[in-house]
Amino acid sequence: MYSKVISCGIMGINGILTYVEADSSNGLPNFSMVGNLSSSVKEASDRVRTALKNSNIEIPAKKVTINISPADIRKDGTNYDLPIAIAILKSLEIIKNNNIDDYAFLGEINLSGELIGIRGILSMVSELKKEGVKGVFVPKVNVEEALVVDGIDIIPVVNISEIIDLINNNNFQNKVEKKKIDITKTNNYPYDFQEVNGQIALKRACEVAVAGFHNIIISGPAGTGKTMVAKRIPSIMPDLSLDEAIEITKIYSIAGFLSNGKLETKRPFRSPHHSISVTSFIGGGVYPRPGEISLASQGVLFLDEVPLFSKSAIETLRQPLEDKYITITRLKGSFQYPANFMLVAAMNLCPCGHYPDRNKCRCSEIAIEKYQRGISKPILERIDICAEASSIKYNELAFEMKNETSKEIKERVVKARKIQNERFKKLEKINYNSQMGIKEIKEFCKLSKEDNEYLKKIFHIKKLSARTYHKLLRVARTIADIEESANIEKKHLVEASNYRGLEEHIYA
Ligand SMILES: [Zn+2]
Repeated sequence: MYSKVISCGIMGINGILTYVEADSSNGLPNFSMVGNLSSSVKEASDRVRTALKNSNIEIPAKKVTINISPADIRKDGTNYDLPIAIAILKSLEIIKNNNIDDYAFLGEINLSGELIGIRGILSMVSELKKEGVKGVFVPKVNVEEALVVDGIDIIPVVNISEIIDLINNNNFQNKVEKKKIDITKTNNYPYDFQEVNGQIALKRACEVAVAGFHNIIISGPAGTGKTMVAKRIPSIMPDLSLDEAIEITKIYSIAGFLSNGKLETKRPFRSPHHSISVTSFIGGGVYPRPGEISLASQGVLFLDEVPLFSKSAIETLRQPLEDKYITITRLKGSFQYPANFMLVAAMNLCPCGHYPDRNKCRCSEIAIEKYQRGISKPILERIDICAEASSIKYNELAFEMKNETSKEIKERVVKARKIQNERFKKLEKINYNSQMGIKEIKEFCKLSKEDNEYLKKIFHIKKLSARTYHKLLRVARTIADIEESANIEKKHLVEASNYRGLEEHIYA
């Protein structure tokens, strides 16, 4: 007999509707599977047959053929175990009801017939809902994640025997999980700028960077708290919207990093080590998974000691820094992962890390220059703000200074973001000041006659290029927005021109 069951696969970070068909007929007992399957899907035949046997289900000796369609999509992963089992059971008439024609099945099965959680549930359930599927059977451990999607019945199940009972007795509707997921933002980010003493200028640079979604590089001697400051940047980013939270959850789920199977409500902070491979950095692999740059999407990608990263890894950042996504090309076509991160880079100023303190640093001038030039120029060009971490002064540590909390800083950031939303609402691809091209800079960064003269002076004294001139105006626009000033004024230009130390130094 022939049967057909709805299921879902993964393409990039989105689900893709698939069907598992089974046909059983008399003939030499045989089990075959077709449909552009990876080895992990092919192995399902052994797992499923053993699981059915261990669930005390007797399988008659028949010729069984399985096909997973559409054939032009490569099927990866272990999520097809359950739909394959259901399709076989239907074709053998062990499952007798036709009440599941509008329902989908997702899940891996172990040899004893228990269901195991899988990656990518959120993406798949979203897609099934979009396709008008009425409900979906999922492993019980995945239920919290599946419940993020509204408007589709979620039926959590534990093992094969339970599913057969539920369907044959037609009472699975009673098992539909009704609990609604509360998506009020918890935003319990564990680090706060209040804990950072001193570094007033650096903290301000971070505020400006977040407000305008500018990439930032922090340079300075070792031990000045560059990492400590960087770690706190997500704490001043605006609260996540539901769409952003869902996107982050999808990525983490597909990567297998979803910590508790719930909606992610914190902005990511990813800090890969400089020895990372290109595949782990940008994503891909035999069973494709998102890389660090996608795991950082909607949050911060922190590259500590950026000159030590391999050139090949750093070069791959060019496309995502422009487009906010990364294209992964594979043998059977290509797909995209989101990569909408804020880049925060940090570096010492010499190999030993103590420069400019010449009492401690014994590096040669040549070594120092070579080290500083280790940051690739095309990447530096995409970083609007170069900030410096200074050695902590004694009085900053010794006396209790009242530090601003992240909440206070965030309030200014949110206001500046609102101004940008209003400014760019008619433009399709621009949301933040950092994304302004020459045309938008001309329109939104007009200066008074005196200020124009002043900028001209800076341009000549600091020997700016056209690119650095535009950077300066973009950053000045953000500083003016933080102060809720409609016009860019001289003081905004002065501050913006201070945020290019490293670049000035290296590529003057
Ligand atoms: Zn040194």
